[in-house]
Amino acid sequence: MSYCLKCGHLAERKIPEGDHNVRLVCPNCDYIHYENPKIICGALVVHEDKVLLCRRAIEPRYGYWTLPAGFMEIGETIAAGAVRETIEEAAANALDPQLYCIYDIPAIGQIYMLYLSRLKEGKFGTGPESLECALFTESEIPWEDIAFEAVRRTLKHYFSDRQQHDSHDQFKIHQEYIGKDKSIERY
Ligand SMILES: [Zn+2]
Repeated sequence: MSYCLKCGHLAERKIPEGDHNVRLVCPNCDYIHYENPKIICGALVVHEDKVLLCRRAIEPRYGYWTLPAGFMEIGETIAAGAVRETIEEAAANALDPQLYCIYDIPAIGQIYMLYLSRLKEGKFGTGPESLECALFTESEIPWEDIAFEAVRRTLKHYFSDRQQHDSHDQFKIHQEYIGKDKSIERY
């Protein structure tokens, strides 16, 4: 059961007049609650030949490794959100964030926007949402214990791009769709 956010009356799921999707609609005050995809902003933070990963201290995927990332907040830019998440989850400063990977995941209503950046002074710690944080070379990446498909792909892209280009400035943006079966579709 769901209740109206405006008046607290029991709300119902139906297609409002003139709409084409099912919404939560209040029969008392006519308020319509729209649910739209959420943006997850995060950072691939690089130091020398290593990347910064965090081991999750929260569900989902407790204990698995991820990039610092989380839901974008009202009032911030996407890049600022990526920098904030890096501070919160790894107590680290992500410098020069540049948009690197975008993933559409319509099945769960999420859009990942991940920024490539450099780790300030090579310093990091462990935020409250992480069990531990660490720098990994390509051969050290715990591929079997990566939390999310978007993170796994971003790491693959990075190590591949790094072989082909000398500078992050030469990397192109990767824009992909992630389906339920994790199929790959490039735009
Ligand atoms: Zn209402």
